[in-house]
Amino acid sequence: MSDSILVIGGGFSGITAAVEAAEMGYDVYLVEKESYLGGRVAQLNKYFPKICPPTCGLEMNFRRIKTNPRITFYTMADVQSVSGGPGGFKVSIKVKPRGTTPQCTNCKPGEAAATTEIPNEFNFGMNTRKALYMPHPMAYPHQCVLDQSVDASEIEAIKAAMPEGHVEPSQGEETVSLNVGAIIMATGWQPYDPNKIDNLKFGEFENVITNMMMERLASPSGPTEGKILRPSDNEEPKTVGFVQCAGSRDENHLGFCSYICCMATLKQITYLREQSPDIEVYVFYIDIRSPGRKYENFYKKLKDDEKVHFIKGKVADIQPGSAPGSVKLVAEDTIGGGKKEQEVDMAVLATGMQPTGAETKIPGIEYDQDGFVVPKEGIIPCGCALRPIDVVSSAQSATAAAFKAVQTLVRRAG
Ligand code: SF4
Repeated sequence: MSDSILVIGGGFSGITAAVEAAEMGYDVYLVEKESYLGGRVAQLNKYFPKICPPTCGLEMNFRRIKTNPRITFYTMADVQSVSGGPGGFKVSIKVKPRGTTPQCTNCKPGEAAATTEIPNEFNFGMNTRKALYMPHPMAYPHQCVLDQSVDASEIEAIKAAMPEGHVEPSQGEETVSLNVGAIIMATGWQPYDPNKIDNLKFGEFENVITNMMMERLASPSGPTEGKILRPSDNEEPKTVGFVQCAGSRDENHLGFCSYICCMATLKQITYLREQSPDIEVYVFYIDIRSPGRKYENFYKKLKDDEKVHFIKGKVADIQPGSAPGSVKLVAEDTIGGGKKEQEVDMAVLATGMQPTGAETKIPGIEYDQDGFVVPKEGIIPCGCALRPIDVVSSAQSATAAAFKAVQTLVRRAG
């Protein structure tokens, strides 16, 4: 029997669950597959409800983790298997080598010595990084990562350029075995792969991007330092079209509403309107989902904006536009009837959220047909591992999950 708790996933939900459980007096292990904590929220420019940057919620939680000796966390770590039952789960974790030591917090000399340009996954490949890199400016832990996919000679050059003891290419993979009483599944979500939605031509037109790419373009730490520029020519777009339900509510892709992408679009319209007061924005939608008074008021304000045009119709095709780099959105106009065509400088696909469990399953955990985690005694999903929800609701479900995990331990001990 164990009275410790494992939290799988170090995004907003996982961090919240970990600090809540630890602050109730339980030992917590937190496992994250990326090299930093913070998950998807770390990639956003701003988030609801306060429309504040990710630092405002994440830094406070990072401080709570740093100062709480009950939390042990692993990054670059994947759970390999789960066995046993409530009160006594056995968990095997593989921890990949980071290739650096905690002193390695300034990659600049190593970056200068590195030659290979590698697509920067944090920015969805819209710029490149080097083999020694900080995942993003507010990364926690704030420690560089050595990508060992480049030639051995390049690794040697990077090592030689950095202070002695900072870069350690010889670090090996580790296996960690844990015995825990309850498991909180906070494995989160990934943006639905736009390449799978053939009619929306992602990859065919440079100026068709996704909503998560838009977040990185708008972010001061993004590839354009916060200027929203279209990828083909780095010019500010004068017209932008949003394609709602890109992959969601579609039995060929995600058979459910992704909950967040209407509000993400409304938020991103405010980024565009702040950047260029004259910009024209077109939103093609089936329904706008803005649950609750706060979200509905946000929507109402944008509906009153004469530069923002809401068109009820599902985009069926994207074609080349008449101007260089522009694209034409073609939709069925469900109110006016007939086809509606709109040429725009840039199109944003409001892609939905796919639970991580749709593609990455942990042996010993049960998932439903969409990849959401099925709750069981002692295995408690929260956040977007449970259903599509926003950040505020994720934090609430994470707090509830921490309580349920503690209840499991108390019941077993009794
Ligand atoms: Fe479509 Fe809006 Fe639901 Fe997203 S939140 S799937 S855009 S209705």
